Amino acid sequence: MAQLIDGKAVAARVRAEVKAEAERLKAERGLVPGLAVVRVGEDPASKIYVTGKKKAAQELGFNSWEHHLDASISQAELLALILGLNADSAIHGILVQLPLPKHIDAELIISAVSPEKDVDGFHPMNAGLLSLGKPGLRPCTPFGVMRLLEEVKCEPSGKRAVVVGRSNIVGKPMALMLLQADATVTICHRKSDLPREVGLADILVVATGVPELIKGEWIKPGAVVIDVGQNRKTDGKLVGDVEFQAASQRASAITPVPGGVGPMTIAMLMRNTLTAATGGV
Ligand code: NAP
Repeated sequence: MAQLIDGKAVAARVRAEVKAEAERLKAERGLVPGLAVVRVGEDPASKIYVTGKKKAAQELGFNSWEHHLDASISQAELLALILGLNADSAIHGILVQLPLPKHIDAELIISAVSPEKDVDGFHPMNAGLLSLGKPGLRPCTPFGVMRLLEEVKCEPSGKRAVVVGRSNIVGKPMALMLLQADATVTICHRKSDLPREVGLADILVVATGVPELIKGEWIKPGAVVIDVGQNRKTDGKLVGDVEFQAASQRASAITPVPGGVGPMTIAMLMRNTLTAATGGV
């Protein structure tokens, strides 16, 4: 049976590290990291995510503000809010919770956030820095996956890594981070021969949003399997994008869903906020 990668425990460790660093920052420089979270409309999942992010920030002694705006807000009004947050020196991190209502151009809003305060790592400047292999704020979920690999002493260098999914927030940055860590990386999508590609992976990261898409029998024996997927079934059960039981028979280590990658995302958001506060990317 595969080793279970305990994302909850690792996330707690990351938060404890960030908290200790934040306390030092306050004692030495009188600086308290500040995170502003912007939420538009009444999407129930967004509400849960934003509450979790605010709570995490408060627990670490950060300042945090939530700007909850009506779904009918105009793009110009939202832009004006972002520009105000950019100019506020008490705010080091700005997070715009997605999705935004259809009448608002999400790309334009993300691009309006100052790259130095872009703690989600979605700004084109930060995406560009990542693709150039230069320091910058990194998207939280793949950044969290890299930390999980470190925790299980899985060194990507020289290994064959396969990332299933090519979204701008998970799959693509994930592949670039693995590449930067000297893995040989393949990115898969809907047109890929999944059984063949998955079967070659020493490190497999899956982020598709398709419940149990990856069959256990495809997994290379001994592979490290990271399941980013979070899919709610009709019975309310949360499952990943990988057939967990069958995959556990072949993998050397695997993340559960829930309790794997999920908790890491908020922890790395806190890490990014601290980094933004110290200007230390
Ligand atoms: P997304 O933007 O919908 O992208 C999904 C990707 O998966 C696309 O590139 C798509 O390929 C690919 N894909 C979909 N069906 C496929 C199939 N049958 N075969 C091969 N590839 C397929 O999703 P996302 O935002 O990256 O999120 C993916 C999953 O991760 C979701 O379950 C989401 O809930 C979860 N997630 C979790 C966290 C966390 O904190 N744990 C954070 C973010 C996301 P094409 O490009 O060809 O369409």
